Order: sequence, then C-alpha cells, then structure tokens
Amino acid sequence: MTQIKNIGLFTSGGDAPGMNAAIRAVVRSAIYYGLNVTGIRRGYEGMITGDIFAMNIKSVSNIIQRGGTILKTARCEQFRTPAGRKTAFENLKKHNIDALVAIGGDGTFTGARIFADEFDFPIVGLPGTIDNDLCGTDFTIGYDTAINTVIDAVDKIRDTAESHNRLFIVEVMGRDSGLIALRTGIAAGAETILIPESKTDINAVFERLENGRKDKTSKIIMLAENGIAGDAFEVGRQIKERFPHYDTRVSILGHIQRGGAPSCMDRVLASRVGVAAVEALMAGRRNEMIGLIHNEIAYTPFELAIKHNTDINPDFLKIVEILAI
Ligand code: ATP
Repeated sequence: MTQIKNIGLFTSGGDAPGMNAAIRAVVRSAIYYGLNVTGIRRGYEGMITGDIFAMNIKSVSNIIQRGGTILKTARCEQFRTPAGRKTAFENLKKHNIDALVAIGGDGTFTGARIFADEFDFPIVGLPGTIDNDLCGTDFTIGYDTAINTVIDAVDKIRDTAESHNRLFIVEVMGRDSGLIALRTGIAAGAETILIPESKTDINAVFERLENGRKDKTSKIIMLAENGIAGDAFEVGRQIKERFPHYDTRVSILGHIQRGGAPSCMDRVLASRVGVAAVEALMAGRRNEMIGLIHNEIAYTPFELAIKHNTDINPDFLKIVEILAI
C-alpha cells in the first residue's frame, strides 16, 4: 500500500449547508496528520480545467458557520466521457494529488466510482446533499439545516393561512426523494403529505379533505417536487375544482432550502465524517462513502451508497394521518 501524501478535495453536484464544515474538517485533520491538501474548485469541472490550488490551515478559517461551499460546485458533463476523466487524471498527477475526498451526492459518487476503477485511484466520499437520499448514513450533510429552514418558512405560512382561513399547498425540494417533505410535514402539522415513495395520489388528498374536520381554520398540504400528483399548482387547481369553497394558495419554497448557516447537527456530522475520511484514506480504505449509522462512523461502498433509498418508514405516514384529525 503506497503512503498517501496529498489529498485532493472537492464539492460537487447540488450544494448543501455544512459542506464548508466538511471542507474544514478534511483540511484540518489532514494537516494534523502531516498530509498536504489541495483544493479543486467546481468539482469535476475544476479537475478538468485545472482549477486546483494548495490549501492550508487558514484557507478554512471562519467557514464552519457559512452555508454554500467555498470550493464552489458544478455539474460537469465532460466528466461523463473517458476523455474528460483522462484529462482530470492528468491534472491530478500534475499537482501530485494521490487521493481524493469527494463531497456530494449520488451522481458525484457514481463519477467517483468510475474514475477510481479506471485509474486505480483512492477516493472516499462524504454525503453532502440536502435530500438525505443516500444509503449508508442516517442523515446526509445539509438535510437537518434544510428541514429546519422549511419549518421556519412553513410556520410563517401558517400564520397567514390561519388569519385568512386558507389552505396552502407547500412544495419542497427533493428531486426523487420525499424525505424533506415527510419530516417537515410531520413537524408542520400538515393535513397530508404527497411524496413519490408513498405513491399517494390526488384522490387520497380529496378523501382526507372530505373526511377531515370542517372547523379547521388553516390547512397545509406538503408536497415533494416531481410528485406523481403533479406540481403544486396542478394539485392546487385540482383541489379548487373539487372544493371550490377552499381559499387555496401555493407556495414553492425553492432555493432558500439550500442556503443558510448549517445547523449544529450538520456541523457536527460534517466534522465527524470529515476527520474519518482522512483517517480512512490513511488506513488504506477507498471507494467508500463515510457516513454515520446509529451515531457510529460507517463505511459503505460507493455502489451501495448510491442506491436510491426509497424505504419510507410507514409509521411516519401513519403519524401524519393520526395527528391530522
Ligand atoms: P445532488 O444529490 O445534490 O444533486 P449529485 O452529486 O447527485 O448531488 P449530480 O449532478 O447528479 O449531483 O452529479 C454531480 C456530477 O457527478 C455530475 O455533474 C457529473 O460530472 C458527475 N457524474 C454523475 N454521474 C456520472 C456518471 N455516470 N459518470 C461520470 N460522472 C458522473
């Protein structure tokens, strides 16, 4: 096993609050253990264009509390091609990078796995996505902050909904995953939750509204984007058609869910897995995502980590039903 001397570090895919805390943890722990760290800007794109620079202790001063990523992030089509990956490999060699820490989601790890196989390159990954849709970790970096941002916004929506006796359809992020909608729906006291995993269609929503208490002065329906019942405006239109007496409004929370200072939970998660990533590389581990399962560091091969987690705890949906009476 060759000794690792210089770790290349990048963030890739959608940004998530807590990525900076993870960057800080990797840089500081690598330096602590006597290794060099080299930053790569804009993920795989910077690897191909050569946007690569040496990092030191001060490069990560005063960033643990900041949202976004100081390394920037991007989606890079060229990395999907063998020629793009070859250029990336040559640039890493030019900068004497002999291992990588990738912070991102399933797409990032898919690319990492292919690259690691092609060039026999040591890579470990940290789960950085607000969607919480990776296997091999109870929570991803950014999820806790995102759901707290959603709750903060929905509490405000509830105030105005209550004042006007309105029904709000609130759409949250999660391209293929309803995990943001599921948890925030419970925490916001939603009437019902529409998520791709539960296959709930619009008829279930109608039923809930039909049979629900008539004296409620506000109602919230939580919806994950790309839901099977259509987008929030379509759901709103259908509800209005069926229940013309409801004063309905749609609110799409959008990119505020990606921003903001990371929560304490996200900072601690990022710090723990960041340190573990450096220690894992030093111990000869590779091609694995490092997460936390039951509060312990867990190593999951990339090919398993990227399997989209569609297991929804049925208790969660039952809780919504029970508590919405
Ligand atoms: P998020 O879950 O927040 O969207 P992500 O890591 O899944 O994050 P993607 O845009 O899906 O984000 O992937 C990030 C990048 O990983 C892509 O832009 C591309 O450069 C690389 N990538 C994804 N899939 C592949 C693949 N099959 N082969 C090579 N590279 C890939």
